Amino acid sequence: MKYIYTFEEGNKNMRRLLGGKGANLAQMTNLGFPVPSGFTISTEACNAFYKNHNQLNDDNLDQIKEALDQLSQKVGKRFDSPSAPLLVSVRSGAAISMPGMMDTILNIGLNDQTVAVLAKITANERFAYDSYRRLLAMFGNVVEGISEATFDMVIENLKQQNHYQSDLDLTTDDLKQIVSEFKKIYMNELHREFPQDPTEQLLAAINSVFESWNNHRAKIYRRENNIPSFLGTAVNVQMMVFGNAGKDSGTGVAFTRDPATGEKQLFGEYLLNAQGEDVVAGIRTPQPISTLKETMPHLYEQFVAIAAKLEFYYRDMQDLEFTIENGKLYMLQARDGKRTPTAAVKIAVDMVDEGLVSRQEALMRIKPESVQAILYPEFDEQELAKNDIVASGLPASPGAATGRVYFTAEAAKAAHDEKHQAVILVRQDTSPEDIEGMVVSEAIVTSRGGMTSHAAVVARGMGTPATVGVNHLQVDYQHKTASFSGHQLHEGDWLSVDGTQGNIYIGQIKTTDMAVNENLSTLLGWAKQESRLGVYANADTPADFSQALKFDADGIGLARTEHMFFKPERLLEMRRLIIAENAEARKLPLKRLLDMQQGDFYGLYKLSEGRSVTIRLLDPPLHEFLPHDEKEIHEVAAQLDIEPAYLAQRVDALKELNPMLGHRGDRLAVTFPDIYQMQVRAIIGAALQLLDENVIIEPHIMIPLTGSKAEMSWVRELVVKQIEQLFDERNARLQYTVGTMMEMPRACLTADKVAEVSDFFSFGTNDLTQLTFGFSRDDVGSFMPEYIKQGILPADPFQTVDVEGVGQLMKMAVEKGRFTKPRLPIGVCGEIGGDPKSIEFFEQLDVSYVSCSPFRVPVARLAAAQAHLRNKRAVSQSVSVNPVR
Ligand code: ADP
Ligand code: MG
Ligand code: MG
Repeated sequence: MKYIYTFEEGNKNMRRLLGGKGANLAQMTNLGFPVPSGFTISTEACNAFYKNHNQLNDDNLDQIKEALDQLSQKVGKRFDSPSAPLLVSVRSGAAISMPGMMDTILNIGLNDQTVAVLAKITANERFAYDSYRRLLAMFGNVVEGISEATFDMVIENLKQQNHYQSDLDLTTDDLKQIVSEFKKIYMNELHREFPQDPTEQLLAAINSVFESWNNHRAKIYRRENNIPSFLGTAVNVQMMVFGNAGKDSGTGVAFTRDPATGEKQLFGEYLLNAQGEDVVAGIRTPQPISTLKETMPHLYEQFVAIAAKLEFYYRDMQDLEFTIENGKLYMLQARDGKRTPTAAVKIAVDMVDEGLVSRQEALMRIKPESVQAILYPEFDEQELAKNDIVASGLPASPGAATGRVYFTAEAAKAAHDEKHQAVILVRQDTSPEDIEGMVVSEAIVTSRGGMTSHAAVVARGMGTPATVGVNHLQVDYQHKTASFSGHQLHEGDWLSVDGTQGNIYIGQIKTTDMAVNENLSTLLGWAKQESRLGVYANADTPADFSQALKFDADGIGLARTEHMFFKPERLLEMRRLIIAENAEARKLPLKRLLDMQQGDFYGLYKLSEGRSVTIRLLDPPLHEFLPHDEKEIHEVAAQLDIEPAYLAQRVDALKELNPMLGHRGDRLAVTFPDIYQMQVRAIIGAALQLLDENVIIEPHIMIPLTGSKAEMSWVRELVVKQIEQLFDERNARLQYTVGTMMEMPRACLTADKVAEVSDFFSFGTNDLTQLTFGFSRDDVGSFMPEYIKQGILPADPFQTVDVEGVGQLMKMAVEKGRFTKPRLPIGVCGEIGGDPKSIEFFEQLDVSYVSCSPFRVPVARLAAAQAHLRNKRAVSQSVSVNPVR
C-alpha cells in the first residue's frame, strides 16, 4: 500500500487522498512555485492507523523513513547533522477544512545539539532559541497534552519581572532560560525528558495528528457539519523555512482579492522577522502587503505573478500563506478564500467577465441566503464590538436598526410623526391593529411568537428588522417599561436591534448604509435566464411593489387586500360595515371602500407594466378589525356615533374560539357576499379604468381557504356574476381569471375536482402546514423550539417545507390539478416561497412560480436558478447513463 506522496507526486484533484493542504502544496510545487520540499502521508494511512489500534503500521513506518531519506538528500540537510540540521513542520490537513481542529507543530528536529548548530550557521542565537522554545511548547501541548497556559505562564512571569512590553523584548538569555524552564515542565508533568531524538519527535507528532482526528472537538464538528468520519486526515511533513531568521525574513498571509469588497487587488499583511502564525496571533501590528512593493520589489512582483497564476488554476479567489527567508519567497499554503457576501458576488461576476468561470458556475457559487445580507443595513462592526448583547430571540427579519423604544403602536406613531424620532416598537406581540405603529418603526421586538408570528411576517414583508420571541423580555404596558434580564428600559430609551442575528443591544449603534449593488443585479439577471420557476412578490401596496420591482420580481403572486383596510379612515368604514345590521346599512361604507380599493388596485396595475398581478379577496376573520378593550370600544363607538353597549355586543358576537379555523376566507363570502362583490368590482373597475387609458390588464382573482369544488364553485359564481354585471354596466370586457389558494388539506386531496372550477392554484403554505400538522401558527412558539431541539422535527415547517407530509399533499394537488388541466398555473405564496431549501423541492414539484416578500426576491431568484441548474445536471447525467445499459 502506498501511504506517502511527495509534493511532486500530487495535484489539486487529490484532496480526498492528500487533504486540502497537501493537494494544494503539491499543485503549487508542480506549477513550479517555490514550495519548501516535503511529503504527504495520506488519509488512507490515517484509516490504516485506526485499524492498527492507533499505531502506525510497519509498512507505513518504513515508507516514512524512506521519504525522510529522500527529503534529506534533496535539500542537503539531515536530522542531527552537525553542520546542516533538517527541521520540519508537521501539518495536519483533511479533505474538508476543519478550522482549529488539529494543530501544526513547527521546528521539529531541534534539540540541545541542533539548536546550537542552528545558532551558529544563522549567526542568530536568539532566533535559534526562539524556535526551540516554540517547539517545546507546541510539542508539549499538541503531543503531550500539557496545557498551553503552563508554558505561557513562564513567559508571562519573566516579562513581568523585567517589565517587558512584548515577546520581542525577550533577550537570548531569557529565551535560553525559558527553554530550560520548559524542559522542567516536561519532568514535572510527565516525569520524562522532552524527546531529543528528531525521528522520535516526528513520529510522535504524526501519531498525535492522526489521533486528533478522533478527538472530542473534531467529532462534534464533523457531526454538526455532516462530515463523514471515514474521510480521515492527512499529515504533511515539510522542510522548515524561517521567517524569523532576520530583517530580510518574514511571514505573511494574503488574499488574491479583497475579501471584504471583492476588489481585484492583492490584499494581505506580513511581519518581518516572525514565524508561523505570528501575523494572525497579533503580537505586533503587521504591515500591509503593498509596502513590499517598495522594500522588496522583485519579491513582490514574483508574489503577484504567483497569485494570478493560482487564481487561474483554481478559478477562484485564493487565501495564501507565505514566508520570506533571507530575501527568498516560499509559498506555504493556498486555499479558496473566505469572503463577505458582497465580495462573493463581485468576485463571481468579475470572474465571468475575466473568462475564468461560466455564468452558471458563478451562480452556483453564491449561497442564496447570503445575498440578503447585502440588501440590509448592518451595525458598524467597530461600534458593535463596544456593545454587549443584552438579550436574544429569533432572527425574524434581517437588518439592523437603532431607535427609541415605545410600547404601543400609537405611542410609536406619535413619536415618529410629531417628534420625528427613530422608533422601535417593543411589545409582547403584535396584531393587525398595530400596523400603523409597525410601519413607522425602524425595528420591531416582541417577547412572544415564532418566525411566522404576526410581527415576524409583517416585518419581513416591510423589510423592517425584527427580533421576536425574546424570552427574557418582559413588557409592562402599565408602567411603560420593559426589562431584559436585569436591564430596565423606559419609553424613549435607545435600543439597537439586530434582526439578522436576533440580538438586542441597549443604546445607540451606528448602522452602515444599504447600497444598491450593481454586481448583484447582474447576477440576478443571469439567475432569471437560468431558472424555470418564476419569482413573484407578496406585495399589498405600490410601495411594496416598487421595492419588489427594484429586485426585478416577475409580478405580484399575492396581494392581500385586508392590509389595505388598516389605514385609519378605511378602518372606520370597515368597522361601519361590520357592525351594520342589514344590507341597507352596509351600502354606504361599501361604496366608500369600493372607491378606496379601486384606487389601490389601480395603483398596483399602473406599476405592473405587463407583469401579472394576483389579488386575493378578504381573508382574516372580521373581529380583527374591531376594537377589543373597553377604552377602545368607547372611542370607536363615539367615532361611529353608536352606543358602546351595542358595539360591545357586536364584538362579542364576532368573537371566535379558534379564529384561524374560524369564520374567515371564503366563508365570509358565503355569509357576507357583498364584501367580495365590492372587492371584485374594485379590481375589475381598476382594470377597466386602465383599459380607458389603453393599458390592458388581465386581473387574477384569488379565493382564500377553499376546501372543496362545491365551495369554490359557489364563490366563483358570485364573483363571475358580479364581473359580468359590471361588464354590462360599462359596456366593456376584458380577460380575467379566478383561481383558488390551496391551503386546506381537503382541497389538495380533491384537487382534480377543484381544478374544474379554478383557473389557477396557489399554495398557501402557512395555512396548509398549520392544518396538516394541527399546529396553530400563532402558538407554536411555546413548543416548536423543543421539538427541534429534541429532533422530533428536523426544522420549523413554517420556514422550510415539510417535504414528507405537507410536500406529499402538494405533490398530490399538483398531479391531480394538472390531470384535470394540464396547463394549470400553480404558485406557492406562503412564507416558504422565499426559502432556498423549499424552492429546491418546488422546482422538482414542477410548480410554476413562487411568491415571497419583496426583500426575499433576490434570495428566491438565486435559489430558483440553482435548483434548476442542479435539476438539469441530474437529468443530463441520468440520460447519459441510460444508453450504456
Ligand atoms: P493552519 O492549518 O492552522 O493554517 P498550518 O499548517 O498552515 O496551520 O501552519 C501554521 C503556520 O505555520 C502557518 O503560518 C504556516 O505558514 C506556518 N508553517 C507551516 N509549515 C511551515 C514550514 N515548513 N516553514 C515555515 N512556516 C511554516
Ligand atoms: Mg495555514
Ligand atoms: Mg392562508
